Parts: sequence; structure tokens; C-alpha cells
Amino acid sequence: MNDPNCLFCKIVDGKIPAKIVHDDALCVAFEDLNPQAPVHVLVVPRKHVATTNDLLPEDEPMVGHLVTVAAEIAKARGVDGSGYRTALNCNRGAGQSVFHLHLHLLGGRSFAWPPG
Ligand code: AMP
Ligand code: ZN
Repeated sequence: MNDPNCLFCKIVDGKIPAKIVHDDALCVAFEDLNPQAPVHVLVVPRKHVATTNDLLPEDEPMVGHLVTVAAEIAKARGVDGSGYRTALNCNRGAGQSVFHLHLHLLGGRSFAWPPG
């Protein structure tokens, strides 16, 4: 299921260290190495899916779960009331640099709209 050359597969499999903040049957969440906000967590499915273009209908529960977990972490970090942003960047034009699906959870500051 997982890609031996994929950075996030290695983190999910525990082969590369990360600051894990959540771990369950469907996903792992860890602190972003280069945080762009006071709260910047990546919620990553255990299954290797390169981009949102590659999602299958059967992945819908998993994608929904990523959002629910992000909301739980936002609440635990106390940014649920002030607000936070979740983002799935798809392909390089949208800023994707790691080709294993990941939901960014950003909070603890205000965010511009539309994003740059
Ligand atoms: P994206 O640009 O949307 O593909 O997001 C990739 C994110 O992964 C960036 O925010 C990086 O800072 C983050 N990142 C890259 N390598 C690591 C790592 N080893 N551990 C944690 N986060 C990472
Ligand atoms: Zn992967």
C-alpha cells in the first residue's frame, strides 16, 4: 500500500521521526517541520495517495476523517474559536511539494483571503 520512496509514508511507518500529535487506524498527524503559523499540523492518511486527483470513491470516509481529526486538534490547541484554516494543496501550481496527501491545519494567527 505504501511507497518506499515517499517521505510521508516513511513518517507514517515510523521510519523517519516526526512530532506525532495524533495517530489512529486511518491517519497520523504531526507538526510541520517549517511552520507557517503558531499551529501548523499535517494530517496525513496512512494510505499513500499522491494528490486529491488520485482519490477514489472508497477514500471518502478517510478524507472526511482527516477533516474531523483536524477539527479535534484545532479544539485541543484552542484555535477553534478564533479560527483556523485547513488546506489540501494539489500539484505544484497550488504549492504541493510532498506527493502524499496531507491536510494542513493552520491556526493561531489571522489568514488572508484569497490565499496567495
Ligand atoms: P505541501 O507544500 O502542501 O506539499 O506541504 C508539505 C509540507 O510538509 C510543508 O509545509 C513542509 O514544511 C512539510 N514537511 C516537509 N518535510 C517534513 C518533515 N520531514 N516533517 C514534517 N513536515 C515536513
Ligand atoms: Zn506516501
